[in-house]
Amino acid sequence: MKEELNIDWAKLPFGYLRTDYNVRATFCDGKWSDIEVSDSETINIHMAATALHYGQEIFEGLKAFRGVDGKIRVFRMRDNARRLRESAEGLKMQPVPEDLFCEMVKKVVKLNERFVPPYGSGASLYIRPLEIGMTASVGVRTSSEYLFMILVSPVGPYFKTGFGLTNICIMREYDRVAPKGTGRWKVGGNYAASLGAGEHAHELGYSAVLYLDPKEKKYLDECGPANFFAIKDGKYITPASESILPSITNMSLQQIAKDMGIEVEARHIPVEELAEVQEAAACGTAAVASPIGEIDDLDNGTKYVIARDGKPGPVTTKLYNALRAIQLGEAPDIHGWNTIIE
Ligand SMILES: *Cc1c(COP(=O)(O)O)cnc(C)c1O
Repeated sequence: MKEELNIDWAKLPFGYLRTDYNVRATFCDGKWSDIEVSDSETINIHMAATALHYGQEIFEGLKAFRGVDGKIRVFRMRDNARRLRESAEGLKMQPVPEDLFCEMVKKVVKLNERFVPPYGSGASLYIRPLEIGMTASVGVRTSSEYLFMILVSPVGPYFKTGFGLTNICIMREYDRVAPKGTGRWKVGGNYAASLGAGEHAHELGYSAVLYLDPKEKKYLDECGPANFFAIKDGKYITPASESILPSITNMSLQQIAKDMGIEVEARHIPVEELAEVQEAAACGTAAVASPIGEIDDLDNGTKYVIARDGKPGPVTTKLYNALRAIQLGEAPDIHGWNTIIE
């Protein structure tokens, strides 16, 4: 008998909370093992494993929601399976078969069903798949053995005090990734490379850095660990570049925008174009969309005031609500994005 849960769902942070189980599979001798269910929070790893020395680590992030009908829905897990495979190919790691990925997601959610927050709490179950190179090697090479595992943790609502604005900044002294580097893959090392810039931005009172393209520093790239979009004269515009991680939230918002008859442009966006946008937001699984109040270019003193009335814009709000409604089973899932956990 497990102890009863005593969680204040609405006050949960976006952090790690122990659940009952995680699931694991190992790649060894040229094949993937059966799925192992574990209740241990630790892993055994050789001190010379390539993940620890040469950064062979990739991950994913997705969520499960308790819907209005009480059913549990996982959002777009096939797309995360595909993206993890692309990241593996990028880092010369063993790709996890997409079917194995999906089976493990369903299994880990089912096993931890009691940690899926109730409908209406604003909280959700965060699902974190990761893959690491396990082979001991002091020479630089790829692993022949891999561990793929999925842990979950209930996380609280991103906007504890309501859908609010944050300010971000531009600082040309930092790049998150290189022009033809690993930016398009979900690699732990990209995050390591961004921690200094992120901390600097926080010290100055900003929630994130809006990176410019690392080659020319002319165009908008990513917004901290999230994609960026803006609303300009009724159009949804979002940067297209090979150093951006293709956000599944961004793809979903673009689709919803099109469904609403909003034109979508994925293209290079020059920094100065920020003066002509009416709304802007960072987007990703954690927050869906996080509206931006002001963007300060710290290198030349330009302040782009986006939300002139101090409130999230109407289009961003509409897109945010529409996506949330699909995740919570309140609106029809016309694109087949949800997997219901039976
Ligand atoms: C995960 C991630 C995102 C958001 O992707 P989603 O699939 O929407 O969660 C955006 N940028 C970076 C760098 C990321 O790692």
